[in-house]
Amino acid sequence: MVAHKIAVIAGDGIGKEVVPEGIRVLEAAGRRFGIELSFDEKDWGCERLAAKGRMLPEDGLETIAGHDAIFLGAVGWPSVPDHVSLWGLLIPIRRRFDQYVNLRPVRLFEGVPCPLAGRKPGDIDFWIVRENCEGEYSEIGGRLYAGTEQEMVTQESVFTRFGVDRVLRYAFELAASRDAKHLTSATKSNGIIHTMPFWDERVKAMAERYPGVKIDQYHIDILTAHFVRFPDRFDVVVGSNLFGDILSDLGPAVTGTIGIAPSANLNPEGTHPSMFEPVHGSAPDIAGQGIANPIGQIWSGAMMLDHLGHKEAAAAIVGAIERVLASGRSLTRDMGGSASTVELGKAIESEL
Ligand code: ATP
Ligand code: MG
Repeated sequence: MVAHKIAVIAGDGIGKEVVPEGIRVLEAAGRRFGIELSFDEKDWGCERLAAKGRMLPEDGLETIAGHDAIFLGAVGWPSVPDHVSLWGLLIPIRRRFDQYVNLRPVRLFEGVPCPLAGRKPGDIDFWIVRENCEGEYSEIGGRLYAGTEQEMVTQESVFTRFGVDRVLRYAFELAASRDAKHLTSATKSNGIIHTMPFWDERVKAMAERYPGVKIDQYHIDILTAHFVRFPDRFDVVVGSNLFGDILSDLGPAVTGTIGIAPSANLNPEGTHPSMFEPVHGSAPDIAGQGIANPIGQIWSGAMMLDHLGHKEAAAAIVGAIERVLASGRSLTRDMGGSASTVELGKAIESEL
């Protein structure tokens, strides 16, 4: 048996409802494929912030630095400003553990209603690679002359050659490993005249090392339009922290429901733990009702097993999700059914 120690942060809202379903399916996969998983549960999140003044203990990150992975539900609550919960937990984890790739699959499944007319399962199947540690999400900047007519605010982006090259290398490697071998880069070098031309330059330099990969690039504005009009044209899409963030919410939206979309915050070298979480947030509007779709969490668990080297187990979970969706049984409300979170989790467990 291979043993893996997983830090579990269920977090807030529906995070607490979908994480147990993720664990249910991981344990089933563990039994079937002989993978030993131990779960170290943390109470980090907005409730802890209210009770103890911090979302996580001061030495919190050090207590999980030696773990094999982090399995996260959702963090955020209406009583806490979004930037407080983001900078209080998620961004510190991504940066401390150098999770510089954010990877999200975009796939249309049979059984999930697609908002785009005429698209069939198989038409939409691509990956988004987002830079996750630098770029537009920076602390550099500030406000001058606050509250006066002269008020002025700046926010600087940071793009390093090191940071850009390493995420591009990951994206090129991923594209090279796929049948289509096609990489699309998101840019905006017509309006953003320092960082984006640099990004384009690094894409061009990296492309020389991957002659087998076909490259194109689009400005982010037209690229978002193409996501909606021609989602079948993409294979791997790479973008900066901001552009990747926007694209990776749009991607799941064109394939039906945000409730099924997973993501991985990767430290590809494995020097530090990587983190796996659904794309959706804590969904305060449906929290506590037991109706959240657990598939985003369960699929994130599959990505975690894949990252830990258990390709077969990961593929088996995705296969079970696929078959349950196609059967039309046990679907949650966001997919037009009436099943509960637990019923859908159990259906995937037994299919596995
Ligand atoms: P964040 O700020 O953390 O990105 P958000 O506030 O933008 O999150 P979500 O919490 O993801 O957004 O909720 C957006 C909408 O999608 C809500 O109406 C919510 O109920 C719905 N939703 C999100 N996740 C799920 C899910 N797993 N199952 C069903 N509906 C969901
Ligand atoms: Mg929110």
